[in-house]
Amino acid sequence: MVTEREKITMLHGAGGAVMHNFVKEHIVKSFGGLALSAEVPLEAMDDAAVIGDIVFKSDSHAVKPLFFPGGDIGRLSISGTVNDISALGAEPYALASGFVLEEGLSLDDLDRILESMRQTLIEADVGIVTGDTKVVEKGSLGGCVMNVSGIGKRSAALENNLQTVKKYRSSFSARWTLDSNLVVGDKIILSGTIGDHGLAVLSAQRGLNFGSNIVSDVKPLNKVIQRVMCEVGGVVTMKDPTRGGLADALNEFAEKSKVGVLLYEDRIPIRKDVVVACEMLGLDPLEIGNEGKMLFGVVPQKADEALAFLTQIREGKDAQIIGEVTDSFRGVAMQTVVGGKRIIARPIGDPVPRIC
Ligand code: MG
Repeated sequence: MVTEREKITMLHGAGGAVMHNFVKEHIVKSFGGLALSAEVPLEAMDDAAVIGDIVFKSDSHAVKPLFFPGGDIGRLSISGTVNDISALGAEPYALASGFVLEEGLSLDDLDRILESMRQTLIEADVGIVTGDTKVVEKGSLGGCVMNVSGIGKRSAALENNLQTVKKYRSSFSARWTLDSNLVVGDKIILSGTIGDHGLAVLSAQRGLNFGSNIVSDVKPLNKVIQRVMCEVGGVVTMKDPTRGGLADALNEFAEKSKVGVLLYEDRIPIRKDVVVACEMLGLDPLEIGNEGKMLFGVVPQKADEALAFLTQIREGKDAQIIGEVTDSFRGVAMQTVVGGKRIIARPIGDPVPRIC
């Protein structure tokens, strides 16, 4: 008899510990070690892979509903792949789109999605060069599922950035901004407020009205990232806190860099209405997925300059230095506003289903 433990559940796709173990024990177990030439292979489980000088990423989106305050599945799918490629320091330059459409999806809705993708591509200055379309019978797909894959390349901005890191850390030899690059003393910058995307999708799913205008932050961040690396530099790692939120992303950093990350609760940018909505629903904003935010690990000598740069541009106006890397513990801990310390564990899964 097949037990519930042996079936796929929503948690297997929800970011967090259950998904990480599932990916490790099934996907990586099946495919890991096959691409011997990959500089950053599948088993590194970073934001994207590196083969030669090419960064390669594939990402599927099954957000429900297709349209939500501040965005839609089209904008989400372009931004997701662009941001993951950018997190390694690469400049995205060609994408592929695979559509799985559900019988009954209105052509009007599809055209709205395609137009939104087009606008996002123009914003990110990237093109779709190949793709595929399939249709399945009416079921529970929710209209459509979308895959966007893409490649990115090295840029002058990345080279400049790495040179700047080396100025302050002579032992630094990484060619990309990997999760494993943090060392003690590095500062962690978050580019803006957390929780907005998950709550915006949740409000659309459940017909909830939080009495405010919480909208998704979904956006491509490649331009901002290239500018930070070119005009400031000193960025050792980046990660977009998507499924599993800030808690999951920071635990990835800590685990792969074998360090501790100390967060300061009073510096984490979060909208008041998001705090109130989270309290009402019993959600932890640290575990909610975001789609237009980036975490930067920066050498301490460049942290203030990187923050000043971010706060004067639209995409980073609420940025903060939210923490630093320490060797006094392993994992992630938060200095709370009341003066205590709280361990921030990797969440089991994103508390809001199908937000991406
Ligand atoms: Mg990512």
